[in-house]
Amino acid sequence: MKGGEAREPRIVGDERRRAYLDLLSDVIYETESFFHEEGFLQLLPVMLGRSTDPLGPDPGSSVVKTVEIDYLGQRFYLMNSMILHKQLAVRDIGKIWILSPNVRLERPERAASGKHLFEFTQADFEIPNAAGDEVRALVERFFARLGSRLRGHPAFRSLDVPPPSFSPPWATYTTHELEARYGPSWEEPASRAERQPFWVTCHRREFYDREDPERPGHYRNYDLVYPAGFGEALSGAEREWDPARIRTRIGRDGIPPAAYEAYLEQADHLVPSAGAGFGIERLVRFLVRAPHVGDVQLFRRVPGETPSL
Ligand code: ASP
Ligand code: MG
Repeated sequence: MKGGEAREPRIVGDERRRAYLDLLSDVIYETESFFHEEGFLQLLPVMLGRSTDPLGPDPGSSVVKTVEIDYLGQRFYLMNSMILHKQLAVRDIGKIWILSPNVRLERPERAASGKHLFEFTQADFEIPNAAGDEVRALVERFFARLGSRLRGHPAFRSLDVPPPSFSPPWATYTTHELEARYGPSWEEPASRAERQPFWVTCHRREFYDREDPERPGHYRNYDLVYPAGFGEALSGAEREWDPARIRTRIGRDGIPPAAYEAYLEQADHLVPSAGAGFGIERLVRFLVRAPHVGDVQLFRRVPGETPSL
């Protein structure tokens, strides 16, 4: 399997799956307590929305379609992500986070990446009036705390993998630097070359990530990438909140405006914000060095595979 420098598990079968789940339960517990301590309100997830994340343009996405559901004469979309809901929620509520189930129907070839699922859960958060460095500092606090809380977890001993040792602050690169060094598919070689997670900024992607007003063609967004070949951990951005710029970008991206009508009706009242989302399964996979992210799901959702149930 391509992807991370995975380890062959010492224990196999149900025992191994139980150890993964044991760790996953504690990761969720620590995530919840972190956001609670940091003063975020937790929203329950929305699964069907009148608009959802277009997931593009983004070289990291290969989604074949967004699921549409007609219900009582109205059109709903299954959540690719709650990014658009997050923008509205911060306006009304302030700092929020969600343990958000996402469905992303990726192409079957993505199974080989080791890190793609067609159904997963992300910890998705948003902060009103925040800048990117505030979000990145919060994420670094999260990982440092998680590492120290989980260091003694019995799963690491039974799986025979070293416990995490996160030592932020982490290096920051731009996509331009990494492309120059590794070519257009920079993520995996860059990830293999590092020993700590690192930040990558300035991706050209969805309309909701803010373009730098002083440097058009540059973007105020960021990904966190795991080391040792495990790849993308998190993505986030300062948001575009100016309705005229949002409309222009939707037009430029060739996204069907009809699917964004409900969002555009609200766009005149957006406020500046920044946030990010990280996949829970990818985090657990990285911690246990599992060969595939689907290994840490009890009910695997790997593109192209037929699930047990
Ligand atoms: N939740 C977003 C996503 O899935 C990440 C973000 O906050 O930008 O793309
Ligand atoms: Mg995104």
